[in-house]
Amino acid sequence: MAANTAALTQMERMPAPGAMLTSSVTHGGTSVRARRRLDLSGALIDQIEFEDAVSRIRSFPASGQEHQIVTVNLDFLSIAERDPHFRDTINRADLAVADGMPLVWASRLTGSPLPERITGVELVDACCELAAETGEGVFLLGAAPGVAEQAAQRMEELYTGLKVVGIYAPPFGALSAQENELIVERIRAAKPTYLFVALGAPRQDMWIRAHLGQLGVPVCMGVGCVLDLLAGKVNRAPQWMQRMGLEWAYRLCQEPRRLWRRYLVNDLPTLGRLVLRSMRERRVRAD
Ligand code: UDP
Repeated sequence: MAANTAALTQMERMPAPGAMLTSSVTHGGTSVRARRRLDLSGALIDQIEFEDAVSRIRSFPASGQEHQIVTVNLDFLSIAERDPHFRDTINRADLAVADGMPLVWASRLTGSPLPERITGVELVDACCELAAETGEGVFLLGAAPGVAEQAAQRMEELYTGLKVVGIYAPPFGALSAQENELIVERIRAAKPTYLFVALGAPRQDMWIRAHLGQLGVPVCMGVGCVLDLLAGKVNRAPQWMQRMGLEWAYRLCQEPRRLWRRYLVNDLPTLGRLVLRSMRERRVRAD
């Protein structure tokens, strides 16, 4: 992508937002709202604060359409650099938040900062609060056998009134067309408002993109290890590590064999390129 588009701020059309979104204007009879996104290594990230992200999610069910949320971290950027389909998945999402301090720091270097980091954990929490408030159902797809059940139990304890209307853990690895059909059928039959998919990135987000139009679910989000966290299978890094952008180091210590290649071979060079592009972008803006 050309350097002068690297910190792209866009005003784009969105489906009609709910009444809570006050800054909407009318265009040819359709309500539209300013959506500002920043281009980081080709991935478009919403320049949005947490409260506004939650307001946007709150508006999704009323629109009568399916929506995808992606929580982008450095690993997402690294995969997106190699895989244009994944980049497209991020860029077509209805909400793409920066789930990693390196993205926030890089945005500051461009001179067009993202307001804050918004994690998948926080968005799942917000969605569960909304679901508990409105009585709308949640479907959990993925994770190792038994994990989603434990996560569901914890969710129902934490969010009084929350209803988990379906759980399904497909076999690990690539899913057959038949398996996909079965999953879509199960989800459609359960009629959830919120679908959390834990199949690991990029599979979970690409699975949502591929089936979004068939699901009839207003809010779909890839959640990575959030079900494992809720089930108590893995721990989150301490707050100070999260603030310093060191969550990856914590995870690396927990699962070195699985994660060393991801963090050191794939993500570190992506970080280097991201920093250089962001600094170049700042210079272009200053000229
Ligand atoms: N997972 C799954 N099927 C797969 C790969 C992963 O259900 O084929 C689950 C895994 O058990 C975990 C979640 O997806 O609950 C996130 O996986 P992982 O930790 O690999 O993803 P990350 O968050 O590290 O990208």
